[in-house]
Amino acid sequence: MKKSGCCPKCGHHDILYVPAKGIYRRNAYQDIIVDYHKLKVEQYICKTCGYVESYICEDHLKKMEEL
Ligand SMILES: [Zn+2]
Repeated sequence: MKKSGCCPKCGHHDILYVPAKGIYRRNAYQDIIVDYHKLKVEQYICKTCGYVESYICEDHLKKMEEL
């Protein structure tokens, strides 16, 4: 979904991207805490069926290498 821009459940391409920070932050953003490391999450939401995929934002992928 992140790379294809296509919903894996229903196949539609109308995807809402919710960044880890920004105007949607207070509503949709969630952190994952692992050993006191805060990992920011970005989400992709299918506007057709409502399916949600979540990814650790790329800035924090390196943090996970240390975990
Ligand atoms: Zn869908």
